[in-house]
Amino acid sequence: MNASSLVDKNLVLLGLSESELEELAISLGQPAFRGRQIYDWLYKKGVKEIDSITVLPKTWRAYLQQRGAKVGRLKEVRRLVALDQTTKLLLGTEDGENIETVGIPTEHRLTVCISSQIGCSMGCRFCATGKGGLQRSLTTNEIVDQLISVREAMDRRPSHVVFMGMGEPLLNFEAVLSAIRCFNNDLGISQRRITVSTVGIPHALPGLAKLALQHLGRVQFTLAVSLHAPNQELREVLIPTAKSYPIHSLLQDCRHYFSITGRRISFEYILLGELNDRLEHAEQLADLVGGFQSHVNLIAYNPIQEEQFQRPTLRTIRRFQHVLERRGVAVSFRPSRGLDQSAACGQLRRQYANT
Ligand code: SF4
Repeated sequence: MNASSLVDKNLVLLGLSESELEELAISLGQPAFRGRQIYDWLYKKGVKEIDSITVLPKTWRAYLQQRGAKVGRLKEVRRLVALDQTTKLLLGTEDGENIETVGIPTEHRLTVCISSQIGCSMGCRFCATGKGGLQRSLTTNEIVDQLISVREAMDRRPSHVVFMGMGEPLLNFEAVLSAIRCFNNDLGISQRRITVSTVGIPHALPGLAKLALQHLGRVQFTLAVSLHAPNQELREVLIPTAKSYPIHSLLQDCRHYFSITGRRISFEYILLGELNDRLEHAEQLADLVGGFQSHVNLIAYNPIQEEQFQRPTLRTIRRFQHVLERRGVAVSFRPSRGLDQSAACGQLRRQYANT
């Protein structure tokens, strides 16, 4: 980074590493420890304004602000807390857009579901976010802020991150990788506790693997590929963009990704009542992913207003899971959380927009 030139272009501090902040301080004629002080106040204290970093000399704070530098935090617009304490936040950006993020607590972990874009261009049929199209991709600080905002709202340190909120992370992978670096190095989340979820962008996976190696030095986060259907025909019904990406090409790219990173792929499968939850679908799915270093995650559909899909019964889910287990496929079922508070992806933002 050329820190001084970044200051000239409205530098955003959140998302920068400790060494980048040291470099910034030095380039502006300050000792390196000033950079480390900013670093601590950004990531440990969660400071929102440069002027609140009171450990810095007043004159230097004023100078940074005059040059257009800012912390880059978001404003909390709305908070919903479910009976199980799942906490959904709507965060406002500088340009007047809203981002959804969710904190999902259990006794031993706090998972933050992170958005990578505002809206989404993929148009998956079962998803509220896809209904409104894409506004724009998020910047690194807007991604990083979501984790800090959940930490503050829930007064608890997040342990896990899943990129399963609004947007397709592979359409914003530079900012996503940069945020992963920050979560890992600056906010103490091990890469092994970070999951990036994608519905699949044609032939992007090998490129992602190489770039992740370049950016992060090693690839240890989990890649979760949203399959949601055991064959091409059904997948095209649920995910319109699948028309240009045959399911067998997607699986081939997953194998390629595995050969580069050595990381087992997680396949996500939303069970939609009477549509993709029959025993024959479970058999087809086992044919598709059998013998592959992978894990299948079953998720029960969360109804959204705009679609008539049904939530499957627990009995159906267990039977589906049993078929996969019998066929030797590693599988688990993830119960939905916070159903009473607009649990489906993109619901809170759309409800807010309609009020
Ligand atoms: S499921 Fe994900 S990729 Fe599909 S429309 Fe929703 S946000 Fe986009």
